[in-house]
Amino acid sequence: MLCSCVMSKRFDLHSHTLRSDGVLTPTELVQRAAEKGVDVLALTDHDVTDGIAEASAAASEAGIELIPGVEVSVSWEGRTIHVVGLAIDPANTELDQGLARLRAMRNERGRDIGERLERAGVENAHAGASEYAQGEILSRTHFARFLVDRGYAADVGKAFRDYLRKGKPGHVRNDWVSLEQGVSWIRAAGGTAVIAHPARYKMSAGAMRRMLGEFRESGGHGVEVVCGNYNAAEAERFARLAREFDLLSSCGSDFHGPEQHWLELGKLAPFPAGCIPVWERWAA
Ligand code: AMP
Ligand code: MN
Ligand code: MN
Ligand code: MN
Repeated sequence: MLCSCVMSKRFDLHSHTLRSDGVLTPTELVQRAAEKGVDVLALTDHDVTDGIAEASAAASEAGIELIPGVEVSVSWEGRTIHVVGLAIDPANTELDQGLARLRAMRNERGRDIGERLERAGVENAHAGASEYAQGEILSRTHFARFLVDRGYAADVGKAFRDYLRKGKPGHVRNDWVSLEQGVSWIRAAGGTAVIAHPARYKMSAGAMRRMLGEFRESGGHGVEVVCGNYNAAEAERFARLAREFDLLSSCGSDFHGPEQHWLELGKLAPFPAGCIPVWERWAA
């Protein structure tokens, strides 16, 4: 049983800065989290950990706890799955080298996306999108922001729908590392591996069970039962699956910036009954 001091804390275990595809600096993110009443924040940039040092310093200053994290891109049965690594040691060589590999893949994919968009009539796509990338990774989000600002799409959602998704001119098949590989890097760095935003993957109920089973077999620890785009039925569903697969539960907003006005740091529903929070692992 957890003591009430732990239970009353507000956790947000999934967030981004401009080191990946968010818009705030690590300091701005942490300050905003503190203003929104978050007690424990995980910084989980995509495939990069270099915002953690600044975020940790800002967290000490703001009087909140910063959990070092990362969101690792993996491929499973042809789909991209995101695995959040929490309470990692960012200095771990195995993780660090693995993430460097993913960033190299991203850069190569970015050039492909750029070429495809050029063929579809979007001028200067790769160089243009790169200007939006302020960290070491190039994300489709950067292409989307570029497409919006150049008038090719009305908003980021439409840029994804019309240019970047499967079947659209800028789509490139992702071939990240295996689920097992991603989990093993997180484990090597002493971290807790969590399947991010499970409701977002377009897969059948059977495929979801297979994926969660393989994840558990590979040493995965938990699943994000409560997300920023909260849906009570989805939370119940993943709480049940977490129990079935003996996985812990995590909660995270996946905050990228204030322009996502429909979600906010720390604005998360409580877990459905019976969930065992990931932080029980850290308290032990
Ligand atoms: P990437 O990892 O470069 O393939 O880009 C994936 C990122 O794009 C996700 O982490 C989201 O932040 C963002 N994203 C994906 N789909 C959408 C969408 N429909 N609308 C807005 N952002 C999206
Ligand atoms: Mn993102
Ligand atoms: Mn994600
Ligand atoms: Mn994310």
